[in-house]
Amino acid sequence: MAKGPGFAKPAPPKDAFEESYYQEHIKVYPAAVEGTVRKVKWAILVTLLGIYYVMPFIRWERGPGLPNQAVLADLPGRRFYFFFIEIWPQEVYYFTGLLITAAFTLFLMTSIAGRVWCGYLCWQTVWTDLFLAVERLIEGDRRDRIKLDEGPKNGAYFGKKILKMVAWGVIAAATGGAWVLYFADAPTLLKQIFTGQAPFIAYLWIGILTFTTWFFAGWMREQTCIYACPWPRIQAAMTDEYALNVTYRADRGEPRASVKEGKKLAAAGEPVGDCVDCYQCVAVCPTGTDIRLGSQLSCIQCGLCIDACTSIMEKLGRPTGLVAYDTPINFDRRKEGLPPIYRIVRPRTILYAVLISGVLGFMSYTFIMRGNAGVNILHDRNPLYVTNSDGSVRNGYTVRLLNRIGHERNFTLAVEGAPEGTRLEVVGIDQNVGGLPLIHVGADTTREVRAAVIVPGDKIKGTSDDVVFRIVSQEDKVTATAKDFFKAP
Ligand code: SF4
Ligand code: SF4
Repeated sequence: MAKGPGFAKPAPPKDAFEESYYQEHIKVYPAAVEGTVRKVKWAILVTLLGIYYVMPFIRWERGPGLPNQAVLADLPGRRFYFFFIEIWPQEVYYFTGLLITAAFTLFLMTSIAGRVWCGYLCWQTVWTDLFLAVERLIEGDRRDRIKLDEGPKNGAYFGKKILKMVAWGVIAAATGGAWVLYFADAPTLLKQIFTGQAPFIAYLWIGILTFTTWFFAGWMREQTCIYACPWPRIQAAMTDEYALNVTYRADRGEPRASVKEGKKLAAAGEPVGDCVDCYQCVAVCPTGTDIRLGSQLSCIQCGLCIDACTSIMEKLGRPTGLVAYDTPINFDRRKEGLPPIYRIVRPRTILYAVLISGVLGFMSYTFIMRGNAGVNILHDRNPLYVTNSDGSVRNGYTVRLLNRIGHERNFTLAVEGAPEGTRLEVVGIDQNVGGLPLIHVGADTTREVRAAVIVPGDKIKGTSDDVVFRIVSQEDKVTATAKDFFKAP
């Protein structure tokens, strides 16, 4: 079956497996292909890379003193900005929600269309596609590249290889460079990078990401998907017999024969399938997989073999769809002569859609309801309480007040639910309004204070009672509360 470099070797015989598990790497030389899938992949590649490289330069006005970068992870300022959304460190659960949503979306995509993530959206696929396009531009298409690698190592050879390395290096550096721009004001940092004034950590990350991009997209390529990535192993649990996959219609294609042989067989009254054994589907495959051998771990479901086979079928005037998206159940049904069936809406896709909607709905609700002021309480752990000499009991707390707007505010702090006679003291705060401590919080920031709640000994109700801390902004009367407990002997 192997037809020169770039084609996967046939499976070794059974006893060969017993002797060795080692598979020598065979360099894959994917050929260029044109067609609908290729156009879709180009469109996705341009969109995703465009977003990645351009996003740090998009501006978003937030008011005086605040960064005007639309997407920014401001680590020193402890903020994450995404257009109109501003996430504080206390709200890290939004990231958890996003990760859960991303996981369920991946599961949904997989249950509908198999490894569609791997074939179209994964960064390994996108950057490998880009690196391959550059390689093709410099070294030529499949045949030229094979000829170059097998030919003399002369000036033309080294010239092309060096040019390719430089081009790959520029893309890799741009990839690493764009990443760090998400962590500081992009135009300023870009200028600093080129004038040697950027912080060392920026150069370090650019170096790491330049190397990894170059290594994984330029050198590792399909080996990352086949050997390193855990997702192909996990996704089997997310899919079922109704999931769409790139499939070879063996019922139509077999017995395969070249055009010439096929004519002879047909003339002799022998059965002959539509596959003309031209290997175009294998030649264009970025992983060197032969889709005609059935579902394989090495197939990233990129769909390029569909384009290759479609163009062959069109040239031969035969119906297209010999290699196409289909489901395992239809593969079996066709063998039995039954018509294909398609079921996108089924229990598992409904479940994933409900879970995604639920998590997104909950996140949106909490985001809308979160208000522009907040309070977090941390009860002292050691000791949980102190009994004073007059019999009263004292609990200590760390109180963090959040002011999410662009001007300063003064908050009163009160404790609710505690017995009559309870005192609230805040360390370092003398000012009060109506007997309540008044705490000043700067614009768009937080302030942490130490507080103590003291309950007279004869008013203690139980060993642990709920208490509520309430802050009220004196400027706009916005309030926020947090629940905690009061511990007694
Ligand atoms: S077999 Fe087809 S779908 Fe699978 S990786 Fe190769 S070209 Fe892509
Ligand atoms: S491209 Fe189509 S016809 Fe050619 S070998 Fe592949 S499946 Fe057969």
